[in-house]
Amino acid sequence: MTDPNAQKRKQQLDYLVLKHKGQPVGDGYIDIIVSRDNYAAFVEDLTTNKFAIVAVSWWCHCTPENKTRFGCPHGYGGPKSIYFDGWFSERSHDFDEVVKDRQKDEDEAEFVKRVNDTAMDIIENKRTVPYADGTIH
Ligand SMILES: [Zn+2]
Repeated sequence: MTDPNAQKRKQQLDYLVLKHKGQPVGDGYIDIIVSRDNYAAFVEDLTTNKFAIVAVSWWCHCTPENKTRFGCPHGYGGPKSIYFDGWFSERSHDFDEVVKDRQKDEDEAEFVKRVNDTAMDIIENKRTVPYADGTIH
């Protein structure tokens, strides 16, 4: 990446990922795993900094406790968690696209906000594995 602007954007995004304990999977930013405790502030920062979310993928957090409680893993193999115990398993066939077209009367900030608000709705309304006691895994 030689474009100085692109480099600056990458640094901004790296900072936000670090700040919210996000874990990018592989190279680049196609998947950034963020815990349920941190995603709201992360998305807010992404919006403020004009980074649009393209899609939401779902990962199961495999720890001995979650294995007992929820029967993890619930998907493919995945990386060991950097910040937390255990590792992440990518849930198969569970992927929500957010992509929207920018409208003529929208500036970039409005567009990113609309896209990321949609991502937030998807996350907040998602029920991956609901349990009788009201907890969600
Ligand atoms: Zn699981």
